[in-house]
Amino acid sequence: MFDVVVIGSGPAGYVAAIRASQLGLKTLCIEEALDKKGKPTFGGTCLNVGCIPSKALLDSSHRYHEAKKNLGSHGVKIEGIKLDLQSMMKRKNDIVSKLTGGIDGLFASNKVETISGKGMIVSSNKIRVEKIDGSYEEIDTKNIIIATGSTPIEIPSASFSKNIVNSTGALSFETVPKTLGIVGAGIIGLELGSVWSRLGSDVTVLEAMNDFLPMTDPDISKDAFKEFNNQGLNIQLGAKVTGTKDLKNSVKVKYDLKDKEVEVDFEKLIVAVGRKPNSSEVFLNDLDIKINNGFIEVNEFCQTSIDNIWAVGDVVRGPMLAHKGSEEGIMVAERIANKFMQVNYDLVPSVIYSHPEIAWVGKNENELKSEGVNYKVGKFPFAASGRALAVDQSVGFVKVLSEERTDTILGVHVIGPAAAEIVQQALISMEFGSSAEDIALTMFSHPTVSEAFHEAALAANNQAIHIGNKRR
Ligand code: FAD
Ligand code: NAD
Repeated sequence: MFDVVVIGSGPAGYVAAIRASQLGLKTLCIEEALDKKGKPTFGGTCLNVGCIPSKALLDSSHRYHEAKKNLGSHGVKIEGIKLDLQSMMKRKNDIVSKLTGGIDGLFASNKVETISGKGMIVSSNKIRVEKIDGSYEEIDTKNIIIATGSTPIEIPSASFSKNIVNSTGALSFETVPKTLGIVGAGIIGLELGSVWSRLGSDVTVLEAMNDFLPMTDPDISKDAFKEFNNQGLNIQLGAKVTGTKDLKNSVKVKYDLKDKEVEVDFEKLIVAVGRKPNSSEVFLNDLDIKINNGFIEVNEFCQTSIDNIWAVGDVVRGPMLAHKGSEEGIMVAERIANKFMQVNYDLVPSVIYSHPEIAWVGKNENELKSEGVNYKVGKFPFAASGRALAVDQSVGFVKVLSEERTDTILGVHVIGPAAAEIVQQALISMEFGSSAEDIALTMFSHPTVSEAFHEAALAANNQAIHIGNKRR
């Protein structure tokens, strides 16, 4: 009998399993994924086909693009720059293998037992595992943590085929497509669009909505739209794909754009219109657990309506982000061990790893307006940051929103260098209830791009030193 059985070994599941075992609970993690060689692989979407391989390609493609286009002004002249896509992909694959293998090691050193196969819940204390060889094993457990993650959404007008791929296919193109269509201008569309555009693809992004990045602060979405288009991503808003035909070496795509029907050929088409939770095959029998639009219903502690069944990560409500899933995994393990951890869902950071990078935490101006909150705005452009100019990354700004009366920071929004790291500094201060003045009174190293956060916090109270202030 196990104390805890975790189904799924993504960032939500493997972290939950490790913490549970650290807390003295006898823990098993079930994972069905196999690598290309047919060997069991841990780490879920994030390590295998998500966060890590995409960031490896974003970094490699950025270096290639810098060497080709931007090093000249630094006095670095390189002739005959060539792209070796095979080596770039090998580097990415090696990083993935190293990290997924690392989870094996972490499980062993933390005494988490593992089993390779598909886990299905029979009852609140029993799980059936369908193993790779087709045999079954039944496992008894006191607690179950469902961490089965999510998979790409497929749309009828663009079914996956040889040249119509999801994010996984787009991380492994064997050649750089001359023309690349992307359906969906969300985070995956923009990150993978950036990768292939830097490597030489002519990229068109077809977004159904009329708004661009509606979840970001309006100033960020406006600047980001301009930047991405300047970089060569042709983003068409209000574009509704009505049909596709996969030809031998290309895809014919039909879409409606402002009442006009457009037809265009792309060498490859990436469909990146969101992900759906993996909940349909988890329950063998009908248990009294609600599923809402595919998401397993849980309370704020990730507990389902059956006390000893919990669910974490992409398979439950909230943003589909690795760090959100991991924190939920830790919370659930602690709660099973009768501890009291909780997740602060108000402070989940978001990052788009484009160049310039985009990151935010807390509320944006649209949200504060619709909630009727009075707030102050402090904004500082990287164009006025010495370090940003020195490192050739002076596009963008830091924006601090603080409550009008108390000055408590409500949101921080960054587009520009080290955006994710700056937002992380902001988030830590927000966890401690910081005001903009607290940041203003904090000393920042010079020259750093973080000084822009300092200046934006000063600007919230009209005290910025390196830009003009609105009022005195
Ligand atoms: P998953 O990582 O999806 O893991 C679920 C695991 O459960 C899988 O391994 C699956 O095989 C297994 N499983 C499912 N059903 C069963 C079953 N019945 N039995 C056994 N095993 C089962 N997030 C970020 O925070 N930052 C990023 O930079 C980022 N980049 C991304 C880039 C891409 C291209 C993609 C696709 C996603 C990205 N994400 C990123 C999102 C992130 O990958 C997910 O939010 C995260 O992986 C969710 O973790 P999870 O553990 O809930 O699920
Ligand atoms: P998304 O929800 O970010 O974006 C999907 C986009 O597709 C939206 O803009 C939506 O309006 C559009 N869309 C939906 N249906 C469409 C249609 N039929 N035609 C045209 N456009 C359509 O989803 P995603 O980019 O697929 O990413 C999935 C998840 O993975 C996200 O929730 C994200 O949080 C996560 N992710 C995170 C990171 C990161 O943290 N850096 C990176 C990649 C993915």
